[in-house]
Amino acid sequence: MLLIHCPYCEEDRSELEFRWAGEAHIARPENIAAISDEEFAEYFFLRNNEKGLTYERWRHIHGCGRFFNAARDTVSDRFLTTYKAGLPKQVLPETGASEKTVETYEATEGDAR
Ligand SMILES: [Zn+2]
Repeated sequence: MLLIHCPYCEEDRSELEFRWAGEAHIARPENIAAISDEEFAEYFFLRNNEKGLTYERWRHIHGCGRFFNAARDTVSDRFLTTYKAGLPKQVLPETGASEKTVETYEATEGDAR
């Protein structure tokens, strides 16, 4: 059984309690009404879907209900770390990931509290 660490409950819980919620750290455009259709399509529909290290949103749907972020290796399906929503992208030195541009996730109205 895959265990996922919820950074709010501070417990490792069964994967059955969680739901994947897409790519993390996607910044909403400042003035979304002013962007082109192509820019909107890129923001709204296109995701990186990279092999290896990915940053994802997860929700502890059958626990505290809160959204959080996770760094996961899509090849091994191993969670490298989880961290609270709103925190910057976590740099993972052991994976060689060195994000120089750090985007912060802005909480939206749909986030559970
Ligand atoms: Zn939780």
